[in-house]
Amino acid sequence: MGVAAKKKKTSTPSGSSAGGLVLLLAAVIACASFFGGIRYQQAQSARPVAATAPRGLPIDRPVRPAPARFPADTCLPDTKEMLASGPIDFATFSPGRDLMRFDDPRVWFESDHVAGHEEDDHTVHRCVEEPLRRLVTLMGQRQARLKVFDGYRPMGVHLTKSLHREGRAIDIASDELSLEDLAKLCWAAGFDWVFFENSARGGAHVHASVRRPQAATPDRPVTAAPATNSATMDNAE
Ligand SMILES: [Zn+2]
Repeated sequence: MGVAAKKKKTSTPSGSSAGGLVLLLAAVIACASFFGGIRYQQAQSARPVAATAPRGLPIDRPVRPAPARFPADTCLPDTKEMLASGPIDFATFSPGRDLMRFDDPRVWFESDHVAGHEEDDHTVHRCVEEPLRRLVTLMGQRQARLKVFDGYRPMGVHLTKSLHREGRAIDIASDELSLEDLAKLCWAAGFDWVFFENSARGGAHVHASVRRPQAATPDRPVTAAPATNSATMDNAE
């Protein structure tokens, strides 16, 4: 609005056609700058939609800012998991080559504590290691402990296209952090798709997944298509 005031001062208040033209021009410029400013503010306050997080950065600090809010039943980015983390691809997935055993004494793994647990919750895809180590470190800075309930799970409870079947997704919680804060931290730690899942079936938890290393990914363009509830749930958990 400051621009508008300034422009109006320079215009002549005469009734001539030239003066009218100047006034009209000033009004157009003022409107353009005013509505342009509104659009800019909206862009600044919108939730982030960037998908692939940078890799190879230090693990003791966030790779991107945490969102201000992360309500239950929402995901970041606001799109399908397969668009953010890439679809599952059994044809190119090699358990022997792609999986690793993640260990850290600061982390609680369900399979270490529950007798008869079918899977080893330490097992994840190699691409999960970096954001997971960063998450553990960022949580440690808040005196919070990560609890892992599911990592690689080739069969069983998850959907057929679930990224758990490739070890690229983890289901987590924490006793010290709320699930909302944990979801925010997952985003800051560099997971490519984070879902604050509040379903009664699987219990409330955070599901976070990672895109394959770029060279090995059967890539499809990441588009920020607006997600509906059903689209958001697709391929999740
Ligand atoms: Zn999950």
